[in-house]
Amino acid sequence: GTQVAEKYVEKVLEVVKQRNPHEPEFYQAVEEALKSLVPVLIKKPKYMEHGILERIVEPERMISFQVPWTDDQGMVQVNRGFRVQFNSAIGPYKGGLRFHPSVNSSIVKFLGFEQIFKNSLTGQPIGGGKGGSDFDPKGKSDQEIMRFVQSFMTELANHIGPDIDVPAGDIGVGPREIGYMFGQYKKLRGAYEAGVLTGKSPGFGGSLARTEATGYGTVYFVEEMLKTKGLSFDGKTVVVSGSGNVSLFAMEKAQHLGAKVVACSDSNGYIYDENGIDLDTVKRLKIERNERIKQYIDEYPSAYYFENCNNIWSIPCDIALPCATQNELDTEAASVLVGNGISAVGEGANMPSTLEAIEIFHNNDVLFAPAKAANAGGVAVSALEMAQNSGRLSWSFDEVDASLHKIMVNIHKNSVKAAEEHGYPGNLVIGANIAGFIRVADAMIMQGI
Ligand code: GLU
Repeated sequence: GTQVAEKYVEKVLEVVKQRNPHEPEFYQAVEEALKSLVPVLIKKPKYMEHGILERIVEPERMISFQVPWTDDQGMVQVNRGFRVQFNSAIGPYKGGLRFHPSVNSSIVKFLGFEQIFKNSLTGQPIGGGKGGSDFDPKGKSDQEIMRFVQSFMTELANHIGPDIDVPAGDIGVGPREIGYMFGQYKKLRGAYEAGVLTGKSPGFGGSLARTEATGYGTVYFVEEMLKTKGLSFDGKTVVVSGSGNVSLFAMEKAQHLGAKVVACSDSNGYIYDENGIDLDTVKRLKIERNERIKQYIDEYPSAYYFENCNNIWSIPCDIALPCATQNELDTEAASVLVGNGISAVGEGANMPSTLEAIEIFHNNDVLFAPAKAANAGGVAVSALEMAQNSGRLSWSFDEVDASLHKIMVNIHKNSVKAAEEHGYPGNLVIGANIAGFIRVADAMIMQGI
């Protein structure tokens, strides 16, 4: 059994490598997931007989398009846009759009692939998709953002719809971009299809608590994980990388639960405030004024600023929440964290830890919450936004937050259970991947080839 399953996984990985050359992030995500599925393949060989792995690693559709726009100097600029529609077994494609210079087909596919499992874990009817562009929003004027977004949507609109594919935000795409995208989509369609995008402003169909959802959800998940060892956030020292949407609200919820958050970062560097970071100041800098995290020390001279954001993991802490970007936490960082006596890591970003870093955490009994489970709160509330849009309803903040909490508790419970049932008690990487996989794989079998 074991050998057959391992051979099968190796064979599929070989095909993935050949068919997607020079796509290291995509391969990393696929390798991590497929290797962790071996225990379920042994238990249920039907997944091999139905060729589920061969099918799940190949996007159902991959769209790549030109995005021409005019900058404020009147010069024509061209970017590349992407949308990967990865898997629709359990619902319309669902996943964010990322605007960042690093975006390419490897990044979009790794994110889209992980989204299949993540969305399945939420228990909601959403398939896996992702998209974006190599457009760099940094330093662009509001008018440039609008012109770029309108051009991007002019093509994307041909491929999406409330029952087809529902994009949202990710790095570089927030309420402003979603607003401009929705305006352009509405104009092209000539109809008010509120459910075509999520992350809208609550004034026109957005859900309350969507902004907070990913960060809050990560902390809710880690809270459950800590409970299994009789631990909690109360009185713990926490380091959170990033200072975007995920990071800000992970810090907020961790503070609500009594933790002391001592560090956070942006793409230029990180701040360390041993008295505990003043979140209002970080929010003012990052949300209202769009400034660098460095400015924090102007208001809190006793805090420190360090250039080079990767060193943030050298700060001693009990709980680390990587909420910035992929592969931000490597072998070296993991070893330092372990050396400093860390007890838990919760991934708020997508794939922030390298495969080797995860191994170090597992080998040293560090509680580890993988992204697919721990950051599923964002997309979970996106699905609640879709539900409100189809019902023409709007729920209160507390209602949505309570649903989010319930969903995160369930994801944790189901991941723990799947890990146990397949012989890896406490391994949430294996548990989350298997629990997410089974629902999608069974739907694929029932729907035929
Ligand atoms: N970009 C987020 C994620 O990585 C949210 C996607 C969504 O809300 O559709 O899951």
